[in-house]
Amino acid sequence: MPGTGSDRVPAALLWDVDGTLAETELHGHRLAFNRAFAEAGLTWHWDLATYRSLLAISGGQERMGHYAKAVVGVDLGADRLVALQRAKQGHYRQLVQAGELHLRPGVGRLMAAAANAGLPQAIVTTSGRGAVEALLLQLLPELMPQLAVRVCGEDVARKKPDPEGYQRALALLGLVPGQVVAIEDSPQGLTAAVGAGIATLVTQSQATAEQPTAAFAGAGALVSHLGDVNQPALVLHGPPCPGGQISLGYLHQLLQP
Ligand SMILES: [Mg+2]
Repeated sequence: MPGTGSDRVPAALLWDVDGTLAETELHGHRLAFNRAFAEAGLTWHWDLATYRSLLAISGGQERMGHYAKAVVGVDLGADRLVALQRAKQGHYRQLVQAGELHLRPGVGRLMAAAANAGLPQAIVTTSGRGAVEALLLQLLPELMPQLAVRVCGEDVARKKPDPEGYQRALALLGLVPGQVVAIEDSPQGLTAAVGAGIATLVTQSQATAEQPTAAFAGAGALVSHLGDVNQPALVLHGPPCPGGQISLGYLHQLLQP
């Protein structure tokens, strides 16, 4: 269909991890934090509402440090935060390896389509490399070679919403912002990608669906998820998607002409 862009594809896809590939935040990371707190003898418990509000703070240590100071009124100190974070990471890996987390609709389909089209794909996440690799190995083992560029929390000086991670991924891919599309689920991730000049599709996750639509105004498209044959995606903002399955052609329409 000449003129619609649907026969053309972006030069690469840049994927967020948490909330975008799987519902890792509420059913993975949150549970792992709570297990680490209990193990350390802390009475803290992050319920769904508390955790959603804490997602504005990127990074596990930063999130715990903020909660300790702003909510509990204590300063745990760097050593204690590092130990808690290490324990939390172990619990998270156990949850992943136990098969507790699953790919969101359309993620495997779109990644496979990009791989078949020969597109480079990169991971750009605030999570630590250990958590990311455990998740990819569990959920997308066959696509790990296509996801060789992985910019994780420890690779940047400034986490999302700073654009540094995206800028680093672009440099590693040897591409410029106007050619690629990012896939994110959160306002912080969207700000990071747009800050790097990258067109972004937002897939609302359980962690971010309660955010006002205005928080995603900078997205080229806002959708319920990426969509599969029996589970069509709902487009809340952006170009229509008649089949309900976000495709490479659909993502190409988000690039500036
Ligand atoms: Mg996310």
